[in-house]
Amino acid sequence: MTGEKCGVFAMYGNDECVHDIYRGLDFLQHRGQEYCGISVFGDGINHVTHHGKVVERFTDAELSQLQGRWGIGHVSLLERQPMKWQTHIGEVAVAFSGNVINADSLIEEMMARGKSFYKQYHVEILSKIIIEAGDIVDGLVKVASKVRGAYSLVVLTKEGIYAARDPLGFRPLVLGSDGKRHAVSSESRALQNLDLEIVRDVEPGEVVLIDHRGFTTVCRVPSKRIAHCAFEWAYTASIDSIIDGLSVQEARNNLGRELAQRDIDEGGIEADIVAPIPLSGIGHAIGYHMQSGMNYQEVFLYHRYADRSYMQANQAARDRMAKRKLSVLTHAVKNRRIVICDDSIVRGTQIRHKVRDLKDAGAREVHVRVACPPLMYPCDFGISTRTREELIARRFLPDGKFQSLDEQRALERWIAAETAADSVKFNSIDAFVRALGISRGRLCLACFDGMWPFNEQESRQQSFK
Ligand code: SF4
Repeated sequence: MTGEKCGVFAMYGNDECVHDIYRGLDFLQHRGQEYCGISVFGDGINHVTHHGKVVERFTDAELSQLQGRWGIGHVSLLERQPMKWQTHIGEVAVAFSGNVINADSLIEEMMARGKSFYKQYHVEILSKIIIEAGDIVDGLVKVASKVRGAYSLVVLTKEGIYAARDPLGFRPLVLGSDGKRHAVSSESRALQNLDLEIVRDVEPGEVVLIDHRGFTTVCRVPSKRIAHCAFEWAYTASIDSIIDGLSVQEARNNLGRELAQRDIDEGGIEADIVAPIPLSGIGHAIGYHMQSGMNYQEVFLYHRYADRSYMQANQAARDRMAKRKLSVLTHAVKNRRIVICDDSIVRGTQIRHKVRDLKDAGAREVHVRVACPPLMYPCDFGISTRTREELIARRFLPDGKFQSLDEQRALERWIAAETAADSVKFNSIDAFVRALGISRGRLCLACFDGMWPFNEQESRQQSFK
């Protein structure tokens, strides 16, 4: 798939702002680990990008050369950003998080008008639309009208930093300040850890200028629909972040509560402990514990120097990393009946290995509880997931259409057999939405229900009610 997973951070501050941008990016490293980059505005734009992680690749010497009072930064799985441009409207640098669905047709149309492209990166398309407009704000309005997809975007200019969010608000973008330093970040944790107060989220369709005065809304592009990515709360974002007013921790606890309540409603479950698959299963397992009263116990030790498995470059690397990152705490497992909570099941390989590891260590039973509804579609809006053919749920339901709750239960029994678990249950889409407490019309749920939030005609299937 073409999706990207990445994060942006930008700050208007003081001569030391590059150090805050460096630290801010480090707090966003979970959003992309292949590339990183920083651009600051001093005499002109000073700019460095690297292949690799922020703390491993930026040297002290490089940081000391990145002089300027304001700047932008980026971490990424696929694209090297920011991109820097010398233009008729001055020097600019651009970075974004998201995915441009109509990239091919935009490139074709622009090439037909004589534009040339360096690597056909999505950030290159966005940059060219902005620069061609001759004015940053006009350019960002044009981006909103021409681009189909998701973007949270920062533009570095001599006036300051422009921060923009697509009109549907797929990817998060939040403002923070201490009165002297004014910043914007893909996730609030980078602000909180730099001792900045969260001011507010950039609204869908809003363009904010960040300069010495703080935050000024310079434009709002209206939209009939909001479509915040629901997967951010369940998996992508860090648990200490707050996105669009909802704490990720609270959301995950609520998703775990929903799973426990379903077990209670369906007659209860005979088990000794509830445990997470670290790290992203922790909030869900704690929620399950809070709702059910079942004892919470860690059964895996997370290897803190391992990377997230699905962000590795290829399958062999992912499998090696997955094996390396979790070891079983055998004392907690022996003779126990375990409810294990995870955020989602993608291909089913990892959960099958984890069930086997627990049973090899002496677990009597392993019951798998999954916060997200079954993944039926890859993401088109900037989250790197697997292809449709790789999704385990699609092997059971090739057309991706649930017709009833009974069909979900049949899928759960089939996945339990495939993974050698004693039982498997997912949150339904309704339970998932209820846990977030955000109305369905303000969420993107397309990887579960195939409904593109742009309009009904573009939906890839009808929703399962
Ligand atoms: S398709 Fe899924 S992962 Fe992608 S934006 Fe929508 S909810 Fe998020």
